[in-house]
Amino acid sequence: MRVRFWGTRGSIPVALTSADIRDKVAQALFKADGRRFASIGEARDFAVEQLDFSLSHTFGGHSPCVELETGGEEYFVCDMGSGARPFGAHVLARQSGRPAIVNVFMSHVHWDHIMGFPFFGPAYVSGTRIRIHGCHDVIEQAFRLQQAPPCFPVEFAQLAADIEFIKLAPGRAVEVSGVQVTPAPQMHSGDSYGYRFETGDKTVVYTTDSEHKLENRAQTERFVRFFHGADLVIFDAMYSLADAISVKADWGHSSNIIGVELCQMARARHLVLFHHEPSYDDATIEGVLRETRRFEELTRGTRPLQVSAAYDGLEIDV
Ligand SMILES: [Zn+2]
Ligand SMILES: [Zn+2]
Repeated sequence: MRVRFWGTRGSIPVALTSADIRDKVAQALFKADGRRFASIGEARDFAVEQLDFSLSHTFGGHSPCVELETGGEEYFVCDMGSGARPFGAHVLARQSGRPAIVNVFMSHVHWDHIMGFPFFGPAYVSGTRIRIHGCHDVIEQAFRLQQAPPCFPVEFAQLAADIEFIKLAPGRAVEVSGVQVTPAPQMHSGDSYGYRFETGDKTVVYTTDSEHKLENRAQTERFVRFFHGADLVIFDAMYSLADAISVKADWGHSSNIIGVELCQMARARHLVLFHHEPSYDDATIEGVLRETRRFEELTRGTRPLQVSAAYDGLEIDV
């Protein structure tokens, strides 16, 4: 299974500013220290190999949208944040005229998770089938509402695709086009749901907008079971631990440190920090990633947990 991240920022999309780009270029030139490059490829290799990731890249970007490529004909995607626009362009290019079947799984309907849908190209293509899965009663209402006048020029009812809303029951596994999908309730304002996707031998857990409190033992055990043995856990690590246990306690999100602890208890293999705080710049997110990796090393049991920070464009083969 290949997981492709189209949107990784939480709460609201964030764009790099001109000043951010100017500073990245200036620092890169300074670090190149007069070096000469024979080709643009050589300069690109230098950027990738010699510069910090936060200097040569950006964590982005769009609000949550994560594609799971299962090897089948149908598309699987978690959430329809602003990353749904480039995801839609990818689907249209890949289908080259053939209508697509897209299975959407909604964590919840906070705006950062639905705002990309009005810009999702395949929704405007007749013959496309879009199945929107979720556990909330209000999903259809939320999708219709955000396109209602006077807020958007195209009403939901005018979309050409055949759009179906499918209600799932928390904790009950369903099979969708060869993939077993199990939703789990999470702590978040208005509730949210994580999803465990299982294909033959691979398991991916998508768990965002979820506040974990390790002192609640029953809840911790439930999540350890939910994450158990996962090859990849895409985890809401919006806050640093200090924020998560102090000023931002009860804000409905978690920290990098709790992500490591839950994944270690669940014997998961790879943790991806996701739903980045909009006020964090690239260097701060890279710092959080470094701190998380250090914590994982210090607390490691018999086997390592790989830790990554999601960015728009990241692809992981599991
Ligand atoms: Zn969110
Ligand atoms: Zn939310």
